Amino acid sequence: MQNPQEIGHGYENSSEKLTLPSGEKLHWHFKADNVHDFTWAADPEYKHDILNMENGIALHFLYKKNLDPQYLENWQKLQGKTAELIQYFSKHIGPYPYPQYSVIQGGDGGMEYAMCTLITGKRKWGSLFGVTAHELAHTWFQFLLATNETKHPWMDEGFTTYISNKAENEILKENKVNPQDGSYRHYYYVVGSGVEEPLTTHADRYHTNMAYSMASYSKGNLFLSQLEYIIGKENVAKTLLKYYEDFAFKHPTPNDIKRTAEKVSGVHLDWYLNEWTQTTHTIDYGIKSVDGTKITLERIGKMPMPIDLSVTYEDGTEEMFVIPLRMMRGNKPTNATLLEDWTFAHPTYTFNTDKKVSSVTIDPSKLMADIELKNNTYTTLK
Ligand SMILES: [Zn+2]
Repeated sequence: MQNPQEIGHGYENSSEKLTLPSGEKLHWHFKADNVHDFTWAADPEYKHDILNMENGIALHFLYKKNLDPQYLENWQKLQGKTAELIQYFSKHIGPYPYPQYSVIQGGDGGMEYAMCTLITGKRKWGSLFGVTAHELAHTWFQFLLATNETKHPWMDEGFTTYISNKAENEILKENKVNPQDGSYRHYYYVVGSGVEEPLTTHADRYHTNMAYSMASYSKGNLFLSQLEYIIGKENVAKTLLKYYEDFAFKHPTPNDIKRTAEKVSGVHLDWYLNEWTQTTHTIDYGIKSVDGTKITLERIGKMPMPIDLSVTYEDGTEEMFVIPLRMMRGNKPTNATLLEDWTFAHPTYTFNTDKKVSSVTIDPSKLMADIELKNNTYTTLK
């Protein structure tokens, strides 16, 4: 706000009624640096709260005075939590560079804009918090990194979903083992329904909304979530920080997030970007046979992946194995026993353990989006 004096009122005193001689109009001047979009809201029925964060960022909350008490309470509870969200995203992606952010009751759902969101007001607590978390996270992916929304919607909606689910899990202390499990379920459901389209589809050219939303929100989220399985959780965390550092205000493309992850991890990921975003190939690995100390795995799906394997022996001890994919030319940091890499062209892979095997599980973390989990575990008959 550039001219509060001229108008005769500080905008913080918005409750005061202003009377003008008839025919005269007020001119409010606003200025914002480094934004590619704006929105503006006004309503005489708004209650306007301001929370000044320690780091100098002012959070504004504009919501209707006449909301039911249950909703008013949620809007008040949201204020401190929004500050926690800004801190979470600033720490895990990069610093919030603007002087303020406004959460405004308005619109028809939840929508991201520069330095503000419009969100409908009559929401239960979990929904008000969750949607605010999502729209605020867009500040980083849609405004600061600003990828092309029509060409690569998954880089915005997907990464936004990834980080806001993680933030929600931590701030609301939900303690979910996998905060992205809803996106995995969504992915499996749409793959099963047969309408999936590749992530490279132009946003306006998907045949169904279901295929668009699954690709953009869920499969885009899984790009990062599954990357944790491929290069390790810590490397994905470093990748996001470097991605912001190198590409904020520069409109990165899919190759840029891939190159960033490669530089951080030392693992080649061309195969991953290609398969996951340009095809609808699915992942299905299975345990083909277990015979004493000999384990044979098979790749049933078209998409190749590295394999984490948990083996329990007849003596009750357990051992973890990692089988990198040859195309990776490397592997994630691991304490597991590292086996020889698996080439894409071979549908099966056999190795021997030191002790007699009692049971085998492929990817106990379930971060790999294997569409058929039944063949991922094997127990020898006693
Ligand atoms: Zn969104």
